[in-house]
Order: sequence, then structure tokens, then C-alpha cells
Amino acid sequence: MNSGGHYDVAIIGAGLSGLAAGIRLAHFGRRVCIFERHNAVGGLNGFYSLGGRKYDVGLHAVTNYVPSGVKGSPLGKILRQLRIDRDEFALCTQKGSRVAFGPTGGASLRFSNDFGLLESEVARLFPGQSDGFGAIARFVREAPAVGQGAGRSARAFIRSKADDPLLEDMLLCPLMFYGSASEEDMDLAQFAIMFRAVYLEGFARPAEGVRLILRVLLDKYRAAGGERRMKCGVRSIVERDGKAAALVLDSGEEISATHILSSIGSAETEALLGRRPPPERRLGYVETIAVLRETPSALGLGDDTIVFFNDCERFTYRNPEGQVDLRSGIICCPNNFEYGEGRGPPEGLLRITCLANYDAWAGLARERYIADKARCFDLIQDSALRFLPPAAPGALARSTVATDMFTPATVERYTGHIRGAIYGSPAKVRDGRTALSNLYVCGTDQGMLGIVGAMLGGIMMANSHILKA
Ligand SMILES: Cc1cc2nc3c(=O)[nH]c(=O)nc-3n(C[C@H](O)[C@H](O)[C@H](O)COP(=O)(O)OP(=O)(O)OC[C@H]3O[C@@H](n4cnc5c(N)ncnc54)[C@H](O)[C@@H]3O)c2cc1C
Repeated sequence: MNSGGHYDVAIIGAGLSGLAAGIRLAHFGRRVCIFERHNAVGGLNGFYSLGGRKYDVGLHAVTNYVPSGVKGSPLGKILRQLRIDRDEFALCTQKGSRVAFGPTGGASLRFSNDFGLLESEVARLFPGQSDGFGAIARFVREAPAVGQGAGRSARAFIRSKADDPLLEDMLLCPLMFYGSASEEDMDLAQFAIMFRAVYLEGFARPAEGVRLILRVLLDKYRAAGGERRMKCGVRSIVERDGKAAALVLDSGEEISATHILSSIGSAETEALLGRRPPPERRLGYVETIAVLRETPSALGLGDDTIVFFNDCERFTYRNPEGQVDLRSGIICCPNNFEYGEGRGPPEGLLRITCLANYDAWAGLARERYIADKARCFDLIQDSALRFLPPAAPGALARSTVATDMFTPATVERYTGHIRGAIYGSPAKVRDGRTALSNLYVCGTDQGMLGIVGAMLGGIMMANSHILKA
């Protein structure tokens, strides 16, 4: 759809932050158009078809789940500001998750959407650390939604309250895996956001996966009059007098807009302006996906929704030397949510995510790339299965009907994120401002990560820079 050359707002990217910003702006009568390079919406949290099946790209769980009636929650704010009825997302809560450390997960902290479970687990495994843990939780509860503690070290903060290194690592492992663009330590403000998202609030998922969430967002956007141009990437941004004067599309067509919101990342946006930002260390991931005839629980692999594992004395969150880091990772069983009788995903699913080194994957010749993926798939699965109850010998292989795997090279190719970094640049721009007065970044490089974070980021940027301007 192309209804002309000038918009009140042009949004680059139809990921969750771009879609949420678009809905908000369209509701307030702004003439808004989203430009997306690919033929599908969702970006890092989209879906794709392979061999007649639909796969979610990025959904393990929607974080920040709270039941209806809880005031002041990020999820509540999103639903209200985007005029979405909570039933439309059909979120089903997790069964329960675990942090499992040690060679086979002997040290185990269980948590669920009831924070009391984690409190009791900390008291059981770390007698003497409960007061410190309580002080950490209090800090997070009292922190404003975004920004408290920015620029401070999360590790130093935890140590000032609780002095057991194992507790420090076990608390940080899920929060880093689900929301840190920085190696080894986290910014305290980001720690507070993620502690709330994962431990104080919790996990949920629609039975249909991310497709339902995207369909609801697209319906709202269309109904509010928003325009969308797919397979229509932005090749460059024209700068004039300190402003973004126009977008040049891949086709060469020029579009002008009073405001531009870019959800593609800060450095990626700079590149559209012809600038070359300095190289940064960015974190990459691989993920294996196995489609199964039976559910993981029917195979004997247990009822955990998500298991965050680490087999070393200390948890290392950095770019691995080799292609993948087999010492730690995330196991997600999308079947293990409370869907209700007969309402879960139609097949069994097992997803395993590990840290990966972009340089070791990018630029490989195709044959070598495919062979390395197959080899790493098996290594990752074997490593992760140590942390689940054992299935009968050979049962998982016999049950597997399809597999897929992505690497940092895949993420870069399909989303444009430099070095395939899911969480973008370690340097976040919380207020979204850029050197140009009418150009703002939203989503990932605003530090608003994950499904809920990205949507909230898009809403915040639309509100503060455009609707309240
Ligand atoms: C494997 C994986 C697992 C994940 N698991 C979870 C999870 O369980 N829970 C959770 O909450 N989050 C999860 N996430 C993270 C979450 O998906 C992201 O944080 C969030 O979707 C980011 O949204 P965004 O709008 O900021 O960016 P993006 O999704 O990156 O959106 C940017 C969009 O811009 C487009 N684009 C790029 N360049 C251009 C251009 N030049 N012109 C036009 N369009 C362009 C891209 O194609 C993309 O669609 C996961 C991500 C991955 C990859």
C-alpha cells in the first residue's frame, strides 16, 4: 500500500517495537507507515514456514506475565495503551522453571509465576542469604519501570546484599540470557527490569505461539488506519540541517516524514546515514529446535517450562572461543504451559539456546556451514539433556520428526542486526534520541528487550517524542 510520499511518522521495521509504536500513533490520528525489508512481520519474534510446518523464531515465553487486576505492570500498560483486551493474547501461564547448576544440575533453584517459590528455594539452598535476597527484591520492587541504577554494576549490587557467588550466578543466569547485551556483568537498571520480568512477574505463552500476538497487533494497526509496506527496506536516510529529511527505499523511491522511528538498532540506523560506528563486542546465540511426535514430558523429559543451565563453577556470559558454548544455555519446552486439556501446541517441541561466536559462523562455505550446524545440533542437545530427567535410550531421536537450527549468521541475514546480536549493542540509548532532532531509535537498542520490553519501548518513544511533543 502506498498512499503518497509524506507521512507524519515513518517507522523502520515491523518487529514488536515498530508495530506497537505504529498502533499507538495511528490511534491518535497520525498518518503512519511501517517499512519492513522482509515479507513477514515480527522481526526477532516472527515465524517462518519450513517443510510444511510453521516455526516461531524467537518465542520461548512472554515475560512480565501478571494476572488481571495487578496494577502498574508493564503488560497492563501495553494492553491499555494499545487497546488490547487481555483475552486476545490468550496467555497461558508456565508450569514452572528452574536454574540448574553443576555438572548435571545438582544445584537447582525452582521458580514460577509465584515469587514465593523462589523465596523459599533461596532459603532452602542458601540459608543465611534470605535477608540479602529480600533486599535485592525490595530494590527492584521500588525501582521505577525504567532507569533506576543505570551505569552501576549489577554484580557489585548483588554482592553488597548477598555474598554467595553461587547465588549471584544463579540469579544472573536467566536474566542475562533473557536480556543482557553486555558480557559478564549487567547494568543495574537492566538487571532491575529483567528481575521484575522473570522473577517477580513471570512467563506465559499463547497455545498458538507468537503468530497470535502478531495477528492481534496487525489487526489493531490496520483498524486504526496504519499503513505498512512489506518487502520495502530502507536503504538510506537523507540528512539535511540536523534533521532526517527523507528515507530512500531499496527501490530508490524517496519518502519524507515529520518524525522517523527506527527499530533496527542504533549502529544499523547510523549506517543508513552513511556513518560507520566503531566495532563493538556483541553477543550471538544459536538455537536448536526439535519437533517431536510426543511431548517432552511424555518422553520422560519432565515438566519444566524453561531450564537455565550451567555446568561450570562460575557462570560465564561472553562470546565463546569456539562456535558454541556448550557449558551453559536455555532449554525451553513450549508444551509445558498450562494450556488446559487438549489445547497445547499440536506437536512436541524442544528448543535449546546457547551462546555462539558470530565470527566462527559467518563466512563459512555453505557445505561446511551445514555440516557444522548438524554437528553442533547434536552436541548442544547432548549437553542440555544432562539437565533434564532422562528419557528412555534413543526415545528422543525416535520421536524427532523435524529439526531446525539458527546461528548468528541466520539472525543477521533475516533481521539486519549487526553480528546477529539478538540484544543489539551493549551501549543503550534509553531516551531513544539520536543526533538528528526528528529521528529516534526504539526497541532493542533503547534497552527495551523481549516481547513485552520491545512493545513498551515502541509505545514510550511514540508517547514521549511524538504524541507529547
Ligand atoms: C531465538 C530468540 C529467542 C527469543 N526468546 C524470547 C522470549 O522467549 N521472550 C521474549 O520476550 N523475547 C524473546 N526474544 C527477544 C525478542 O524477540 C526481541 O527482543 C524483540 O522481538 C525485539 O523487537 P524489536 O522490535 O526491538 O526488533 P526487531 O524484532 O529486530 O525488529 C526490527 C525489524 O526491522 C527490520 N529491518 C531491519 N533493517 C531494516 C531496513 N533497513 N529497512 C526496513 N526494515 C528493516 C527487520 O527485518 C525487523 O523486522 C528472543 C529472540 C530470539 C531471536
